[in-house]
Amino acid sequence: MNTFNIASSIVYFTILLSVTLAALPAQPLAAVELEVICGSMYSGKSDLLISRIQRAQIAKKKVQLFKHALDNRYHDVDKINAHNGNTSSENAILVRNANDILSHLHNDTDIIAIDEAQFLDPKVVQVCQHLLHPSKASHCRRLSKIIIAGLDLDFRGEPFGPMPQLLAIAHKVHKLHAICVVCGRDDFTVTQRIVNGQPANYHDEIIMVGAKETYEARCRQCHDVLHSPHEYYLHTEKIE
Ligand SMILES: [Zn+2]
Repeated sequence: MNTFNIASSIVYFTILLSVTLAALPAQPLAAVELEVICGSMYSGKSDLLISRIQRAQIAKKKVQLFKHALDNRYHDVDKINAHNGNTSSENAILVRNANDILSHLHNDTDIIAIDEAQFLDPKVVQVCQHLLHPSKASHCRRLSKIIIAGLDLDFRGEPFGPMPQLLAIAHKVHKLHAICVVCGRDDFTVTQRIVNGQPANYHDEIIMVGAKETYEARCRQCHDVLHSPHEYYLHTEKIE
């Protein structure tokens, strides 16, 4: 076989290989998983979120942390803080709305962690839906997981902000429970708001900024809300 024939054969096989590869179906991008951690206050949500972040960092994943700027209860406002004293090593980006998450996102991020998601606007659901479709989220192609923590119920015991929708679209859900501080039951708990030593009024604002209220974890039987329409239903046993 002379030099010309060898060169021709190489060109022929190169073209054949290119055509064969082009005919193969495109490799789909890896799915992005949404994991939601919910529960009442003192149920360990932020602690589980911090544990997830630490495990991802051990695996050398790039994690970006977000939390709502409203959550300024702790000295380390830039960190994700748990009630048991556990704190994230990385700083969180404080956001005021869901779009802020997209605008701060780096294109080499593997995992997004969001704390106190109940405070975010409903657009956070659209932001997650967008990121769950890798082809659409072309600016964030390494993203493999979004982990969200938040209160599923407000102080009235009713679904809180965007959490019901986030729970509905999640791949994995962790519903955590605290211990009821009144009866000690280790069961389903709701966040009890107390204002001046009294249970909060049903008609109070859902989010009270800078108020002097305190919070407890209570089971459903010990949870108390003044002027709650649910109490009316319980007494009349009639829902219209
Ligand atoms: Zn109780």
